[in-house]
Amino acid sequence: MSPALPSYEEAAALVSGIAAQVRAQRPRIERVHLAAAAGRILAQPIRADRDQPPFSRSTRDGFACRAAEASTHEFLSVAGATRAGDPPAGLLDPGAAWEIMTGAPVPPGAGSVIMIEHVEQTDGQVRLLPPRKVSEGENIVAQGAQARTGDELIPAGTAITFAHIACAAECGYSALEVFVRPRVAILTTGDELVPVESAPAPGQIRNSNSPMLAALVAAAGGEPWVLPTASDDALALDNSLAEAAQADLLLISGGVSAGKFDLVEPALARAGAEFHFTGVRIQPGKPLVFAVLPRKSAINLHTQEAARAIPVPVFGLPGNPISSAVTFLLFAAPMLAALAGSLQPGPRFALAQLAKATDKHGKPGLTRFLPASCQFNPPAGKLPQVALVSWHGSGDLAALARSNCFLVIPEEADSLEPGAIVQILLP
Ligand code: AMP
Ligand code: MG
Repeated sequence: MSPALPSYEEAAALVSGIAAQVRAQRPRIERVHLAAAAGRILAQPIRADRDQPPFSRSTRDGFACRAAEASTHEFLSVAGATRAGDPPAGLLDPGAAWEIMTGAPVPPGAGSVIMIEHVEQTDGQVRLLPPRKVSEGENIVAQGAQARTGDELIPAGTAITFAHIACAAECGYSALEVFVRPRVAILTTGDELVPVESAPAPGQIRNSNSPMLAALVAAAGGEPWVLPTASDDALALDNSLAEAAQADLLLISGGVSAGKFDLVEPALARAGAEFHFTGVRIQPGKPLVFAVLPRKSAINLHTQEAARAIPVPVFGLPGNPISSAVTFLLFAAPMLAALAGSLQPGPRFALAQLAKATDKHGKPGLTRFLPASCQFNPPAGKLPQVALVSWHGSGDLAALARSNCFLVIPEEADSLEPGAIVQILLP
């Protein structure tokens, strides 16, 4: 075990340090229609354009009344009615009730709404059925209780979900300012790789990392830019790197292990890279390289000065597909989130309960992130139940396809026992 390699936590802290510098340079902004904004990163704060609710709103069908009067169970005269969409009625007279529908403005003076299911009605009169009482404010959301005009409801930097779209719609935003997606170069390396459209000759394999990484990049808010695969030769790598360095973030797959044809590190060095680490104490993904390259152009930054100030982050991902996926989720995704202007960089972890013991063959001193299957709808009262999927190492894509998360086995743990509360890395 090389003591010089950073632990997972140390490597993650290094990456988030660079990510913080990157985040300080806000990306360029574009406007998108509200309906197309899901998954984008908000570049403006969303503010309430009026009080929410804009009027004291009934949450029930029933009768607006004074709570103290209704609670005497005396009959109250029904003085009128308001439906949802009607303007608010005038002040409610003492001894009166006002018929009201869900979502309608409650007349001033009425402090509560009694539900239609809880009343007795006779010719223009209504009373609350004993022994039920009603308290002040019941079944009403007061004007401005949710938000006041001008309140910031969603901060810039939020990854937009359905909830933010609904909230923005309520505030009258038909379009949103969002950050331009960072362009992420995906450069696969390896003489054995053929494109998915080609029939592999003996000894060749299909390039699965390009489409996998493109999918991961898109899901993490980036614009994938898939470059042609570079062969395992220095000149080819130099040429590909020169082109790829025009991106906002560069992902290289393969060529970072200790083999004779693992030429990525020297090529990065020739391109002027500053290395932050060239390995991490994790499995899979130990040979991961993290470096920065001098920037040649600005895709999503405001100015050339900003562009020059921020170098291009580069991850040299180990070529084995599961190693590539894990190291992307742990390190590249948080960097991508920072480049995208997001305040929620990830990675995302959750707790689950281990359903089956893990093996005892882990390499000591490495934090492991192993493909696992988690049942997220466990029986009532139980935590999500997780178990490792059986696999034949980090090239086993069939195993990856059977998994929906990665089980985290801490550095110091040899194996984990059934019933243990464990951490899982979410994709
Ligand atoms: P490397 O990191 O280049 O030593 O590659 C490690 C393993 O991953 C080898 O078995 C490669 O054939 C495989 N591999 C590398 N790149 C890819 C790729 N783009 N798609 C699928 N497998 C790959
Ligand atoms: Mg290779």
